[in-house]
Amino acid sequence: MSEAGSGRITKVVIVGGGTAGWMTAAALSRLVAGGVSVTLVESEEIGTVGVGEATIPSLLDFNRMLGIDEDAFVRATSATFKLGIEFRDWTRLGDAYLHPFGTHGRDVEGVSFHQLWLRQRASGAGDPGSIGDYCLSAVAARRGRFNRPSANPQSVLSTLSYAFHFDAALYAAFLRNLAEQDGVVRVEGRVVAVDKDPDAGSITAVQLADGRSIDGELFIDCSGFRSLLLGDALRVPFTSWQHWLPCDRAWAVPSARQGPLTPYTRATADTAGWRWRIPLQHRVGNGYVYSSAHIDDDAARDALLAGLEGTALGEPRQLRFVAGRRDRLWEKNCIAIGLSGGFLEPLESTSIHLIQSGITRLMTLFPDTGFSTVETAEYNRVMLREYEQVRDFIILHYHATQRSDSPFWEHCRTMALPESLQSKLELWSGKARVFREQGELFTPDSWIAVLLGQGIDPQSFDPLAAVLPAGETARFLAHVRDMIDKTAAAMPTHEQFIAQHCAA
Ligand code: FAD
Repeated sequence: MSEAGSGRITKVVIVGGGTAGWMTAAALSRLVAGGVSVTLVESEEIGTVGVGEATIPSLLDFNRMLGIDEDAFVRATSATFKLGIEFRDWTRLGDAYLHPFGTHGRDVEGVSFHQLWLRQRASGAGDPGSIGDYCLSAVAARRGRFNRPSANPQSVLSTLSYAFHFDAALYAAFLRNLAEQDGVVRVEGRVVAVDKDPDAGSITAVQLADGRSIDGELFIDCSGFRSLLLGDALRVPFTSWQHWLPCDRAWAVPSARQGPLTPYTRATADTAGWRWRIPLQHRVGNGYVYSSAHIDDDAARDALLAGLEGTALGEPRQLRFVAGRRDRLWEKNCIAIGLSGGFLEPLESTSIHLIQSGITRLMTLFPDTGFSTVETAEYNRVMLREYEQVRDFIILHYHATQRSDSPFWEHCRTMALPESLQSKLELWSGKARVFREQGELFTPDSWIAVLLGQGIDPQSFDPLAAVLPAGETARFLAHVRDMIDKTAAAMPTHEQFIAQHCAA
């Protein structure tokens, strides 16, 4: 039953053809067969951000939803496999740890694995190694190996979890092809004005520079940092999180590949931010995300170039941004997906996930022309909370440092935290408890990897961990570690796997 006066949406207009625009178009293209027109407007003259290269495992679900053959996708986007992120120099200069995808060991009789590990470590009876030794993705990453997980839940290989590094421009082109095959209409043109209903204030059409007008009932704003519809036309305010995440610029440059193909992203902390290294099949993506209040542009550019392993392929490109998000991501008949809605730096490769999350939630709450305020409010509630949860996880990396070698790190180490993160840290610092909120992206395993990786040791552990006799715990840990090590050793190298299955 629909609300009085409401009907089916028959015209969807997407403004913007970056990763967000084409992911949205590919997902909504299934509506075309049901009589809905889906039009995407993009401007080649303006171009895209085009540096989203590292992803997290949820992208596999999105690709599966679209029926994408994974090997074909890896070939088409020159992708490599990603088992996690190596963080260098975050706690102290010279330190390194891995935040892997997947799980650590397995829980025993309701007691979390990390509690058993903490208890063993505290007992002093034999070194249990690092928590990463109990995660197959971490061990395989360190050995430069990769295989797809086994479907057999009894197999250690079933615990492996992975994502991709890919060429974002090639991914957008791949999705464009799928979307156009399914009937999405692409319009090349520059949006210069937005028409609104004088009474309702909702968007009725976008005007192009060449005089064409494209009308619709539902508008998806994928116009990137410009936020043409949600920000400019509907005036939804932007809340900055710069006081917690001061990085506001980046230099990006690809370089020639050198050495083995590592199956992980590298994030190296630097004087006023951090540098990324993302290996693709044909090149390496590099960047320096920095705070312009703490380093000048030339010095940041020099630091990036000095840290490259291979020759730079072209001149570095600068990007500017502010961490934060719009106060509502769905307003009237417009939904912002991608950078038009908000930005969180790519430290945990979450932007493309947030795009995907916006799309799947839009599909779950797909409106009719009545635009139920309850549905809109629910969309905003869950999406805004997800942004905050990701924000907290990113802030943790900056705050949990012992570095004091630059004003930037001094600021990060001593800054006041959001209450939500503060209470998570307090819970952890007692008995190493980590709870996952409903809908939260990062699992307790992720929090544990980063908390321990950055040297935030809890005072104690769960008393239930002592229920298992000490000797039994030690044997269990040794067995898990051994199984993981043997499984990783038997995997092909990352390069061998790609050559056998999906070389570009
Ligand atoms: P854009 O790529 O900017 O696309 C905007 C589109 O709107 C373009 O097609 C443009 O032509 C169009 N447009 C704009 N104005 C008009 C107009 N007036 N008329 C018509 N069309 C218009 N994400 C990750 O998940 N992993 C990463 O590793 C990662 N690294 C990043 C590194 C940096 C430094 C930055 C800044 C971002 C990174 N991101 C990463 C984020 C990622 O790049 C974006 O989330 C992703 O590219 C989506 O961008 P978008 O489609 O929202 O915007």
